[in-house]
Amino acid sequence: MPLYPHHGRINLDCPVECLLTVLSLKAFNPLTRACGLEEPPRTVGDVVDLHTRHQLREISGLGPRRILEIEAALVLAELDITSHQHRPPA
Ligand SMILES: [Zn+2]
Repeated sequence: MPLYPHHGRINLDCPVECLLTVLSLKAFNPLTRACGLEEPPRTVGDVVDLHTRHQLREISGLGPRRILEIEAALVLAELDITSHQHRPPA
């Protein structure tokens, strides 16, 4: 029962809430609270950035298992988290 049901394929400009379609609240809540970070992620792209910069582990409340879950969710959303290059729209 996500508050923000997703509207199609998740992209980097989506609000972070769109990840609720592929992520549990147990990982989503600490991720969006982002205790320990200067700024909480607002978009899916922000989360990918945190992943790329290895900053997910700096969020208190996010253990290795939850970080793996977030990474799996990004993969599930078919986001390219390895290179994080802007691809032309399909
Ligand atoms: Zn979306």
